[in-house]
Amino acid sequence: YIKIQDVYKKYKVGDTVVVANNGISFSIEKGEFVVILGPSGAGKSTILNILGGMESCDSGEIIVDELAISTFNNKQLTKYRRDDVGFVFQFYNLVQNLTAKENVELATRITKNALDVDQTLELVGLDHRKDNFPSQLSGGEQQRVSIARAVAKNPKLLLCDEPTGALDYNTGKQVLQTLQDTCRKMGTTVIVITHNSAIAQMADRVIKINDAKVRSVEVNKNPIPIENIEW
Ligand code: ATP
Ligand code: MG
Repeated sequence: YIKIQDVYKKYKVGDTVVVANNGISFSIEKGEFVVILGPSGAGKSTILNILGGMESCDSGEIIVDELAISTFNNKQLTKYRRDDVGFVFQFYNLVQNLTAKENVELATRITKNALDVDQTLELVGLDHRKDNFPSQLSGGEQQRVSIARAVAKNPKLLLCDEPTGALDYNTGKQVLQTLQDTCRKMGTTVIVITHNSAIAQMADRVIKINDAKVRSVEVNKNPIPIENIEW
């Protein structure tokens, strides 16, 4: 269970102040596949980074399961980021001189609850490519390595910031399918940021953010399988 209550975050850029989150509130049930939708500059990455303990908020409350993240000191935040949160980024951020398997192993070495590396690579369908370097893999395969890297920590929360932003249509669909399979098989709460409103149809919950505020929250009782969604 995740609760975000009245989160406020501003940035100073030169002489001007940008309000990135202007009283953001929403809740998420454990194990949900959630899509956050909204235009560029809406404040989506900001709230995701705050939820992941990568940035602090100016005010507001963040609860993840029993953990009150917004009250954490630096040491508690380090442990939270390491053990409880997996991140997937638009441009994969793999270590180029390590193989797929070594990239995943690296992440498991810093955390307590780590899953088996080979099993995790199998989960994302990359068993046969584990000894390849990132430069030998397609964009979609590299993104699946980065998903394996995040999932191998067995996190409470998998946070994905535009994971299909750099991928073509079919590859993007496969990556979203992999993320949803992970959610269903592992019971991980998965949050995906996207610009693409069609993707919202596959989500259990859709949170629309615009101009630093939540504009709507919809719960899908019957999410549509991604193979039936066209965009
Ligand atoms: P996009 O879809 O383009 O990624 P977004 O919804 O993720 O947009 P954010 O990255 O959360 O938007 O940014 C919200 C606002 O806060 C923007 O005006 C942005 O310029 C500003 N902002 C975000 N991070 C910083 C920062 N570190 N320093 C200064 N301004 C920032
Ligand atoms: Mg963003």
